[in-house]
Amino acid sequence: MINVGVTTKAKIKMRSNKTLRLILGDQLNSQHSWFAVIDKSVTYVLMELRSETDYATHHIQKIVGFFAAMQNFALELLEKKHSVIFISLNDASNKQNFEENIIQLVNEHGFECFEYQLPDEYRLDKHLKNLCNILTIESNIFDTEHFLTTREELGDFFKGKKVFLMESFYRYMRKKHLVLMQGSDPLTGQWNFDKDNRKKLPANHKCTAPLIFENDITKTLNEIEKTSVKTIGSINAKQFIWPINRLQSLKLLAFFIEECLPLFGTYEDAMTQNEWSLYHSRLSFSMNTKMLSPLEVINAAILEWKKRPAEISYNQVEGFVRQILGWREFMRGVYWLKMPEFGRMNYLNHTEKLPDWYWTGETKMKCLSHTIKQSLEFAYAHHIQRLMITGNFALLAGVHPDEVDKWYLGVYIDALEWVEITNTRGMSQYADGGIIGSKPYVSSAAYIDKMSHYCGSCFYKKAIKTGDKACPFNSLYWNFFDKHENKLTKNPRIGMMYNVWKRMEPKIKADLLQQAEYYLTNLNSL
Ligand SMILES: Cc1cc2nc3c(=O)[nH]c(=O)nc-3n(C[C@H](O)[C@H](O)[C@H](O)COP(=O)(O)OP(=O)(O)OC[C@H]3O[C@@H](n4cnc5c(N)ncnc54)[C@H](O)[C@@H]3O)c2cc1C
Ligand code: SF4
Repeated sequence: MINVGVTTKAKIKMRSNKTLRLILGDQLNSQHSWFAVIDKSVTYVLMELRSETDYATHHIQKIVGFFAAMQNFALELLEKKHSVIFISLNDASNKQNFEENIIQLVNEHGFECFEYQLPDEYRLDKHLKNLCNILTIESNIFDTEHFLTTREELGDFFKGKKVFLMESFYRYMRKKHLVLMQGSDPLTGQWNFDKDNRKKLPANHKCTAPLIFENDITKTLNEIEKTSVKTIGSINAKQFIWPINRLQSLKLLAFFIEECLPLFGTYEDAMTQNEWSLYHSRLSFSMNTKMLSPLEVINAAILEWKKRPAEISYNQVEGFVRQILGWREFMRGVYWLKMPEFGRMNYLNHTEKLPDWYWTGETKMKCLSHTIKQSLEFAYAHHIQRLMITGNFALLAGVHPDEVDKWYLGVYIDALEWVEITNTRGMSQYADGGIIGSKPYVSSAAYIDKMSHYCGSCFYKKAIKTGDKACPFNSLYWNFFDKHENKLTKNPRIGMMYNVWKRMEPKIKADLLQQAEYYLTNLNSL
């Protein structure tokens, strides 16, 4: 029997049967009502599993980050006197998947009830539902108490609509949660300040150095290295930079609102080879593992802005709130509405393989080599690097969305399918035909040069479209529009580009397409 959402403390106190509660690696929410009382009839279980390390080729920092955070969470529960079972990666009894481990525990310990929190991944949702059908004991499902929307809320909000406008969902969220509101109107009278948030970093500007941690994760790394788990990227075992418990996550949040928020919005879209995180929060890992709640992050930013209005302009805080209250919840809602079909979408029928240098950064294109090498070094790139550098190129090169998804799901520390696939297949690759983004996010060198310092030190020349050293983005950009004319020409947001393309001299068009063809047949040597 499965019951959903029985979360009251009263029910927990009344429990008399021996219960096993599963905590997934992205459910490290110490504020969850599960932990409000110490109940000796309840045992919590956390597991390090090959099913999780192997469903994609993950960055080593991602696996270590999740395992280390899980280990710390288990220790915190033990310190608070909860009963905990921790199944380590190399435990002899570890069956390496949730189902078999749970069945084994139920049989060995005689649990009479199995409980879990709603997983955020479709894959795990299916596995755990199946498990409950196999188990002969009672099972209950609880909410994670993390998100600001239910799985179904976005679907209800856009019922009957073909296009889902993030902006209208965001306004609904602002009103519903009374965030940055003055009665029923937005504070300042304007909902969105995105236009103020598109500045290039001045050439001599030095960003505040990011707060990094110096966690020694040697033991965890050694255990992973004993196995055949395949990983990408590098790691410093004595100085693991990511937060691996709630305390560190709170420190990162405090650092962000004190040091980075004053310029977060202004340089949100800026890129430079001299910095890797600029004024971004790097809180996605802490939030996606639920060590931090989105509401506490939003509230902390708003409180800081209220305390320092002279230093933190409104566009900084509105821009930050929009990412979390708007985009993050929006992506989750689309995921639950559109999976599993979303995972198979390929609107533009792209078929190419991802160039080999996505796994090494060894390309002469400065923007790509910097973004990819940084991703392999830190398991992190900020949004515009993901969207307008690696994503943009993959889309222009016609790479199959499965290949692109595999890369994004592996390379970033914050990559969990619900937020990775919606951003990658949807926003970045337009494989959903416009459910998430109203137009494909593609650009030539002009945009990259406008927002970054990359082009000045690149082998290729940003202003050249054909011939030796022509920036590949330039010809691939026009080739993309030419190739997909049937599908895109009616899109009102890109009609203007087709007018420009149609008015171009035939010889110029032919040269651009020939240049693009050359680059497309030589992707690996760019
Ligand atoms: C191709 C592609 C793949 C992506 N894959 C992931 C992913 O696997 N996991 C992930 O968490 N984010 C993903 N994003 C969204 C975004 O790039 C990251 O959330 C962000 O870069 C994380 O860094 P940060 O914490 O410094 O973010 P900040 O710039 O400081 O933003 C604050 C927070 O807002 C939220 N946010 C911002 N943009 C988005 C967005 N588009 N969707 C959802 N939440 C958002 C994040 O929680 C982030 O921590 C992806 C974006 C693209 C274009
Ligand atoms: S010239 Fe082209 S390839 Fe080089 S950095 Fe600029 S946009 Fe990237």
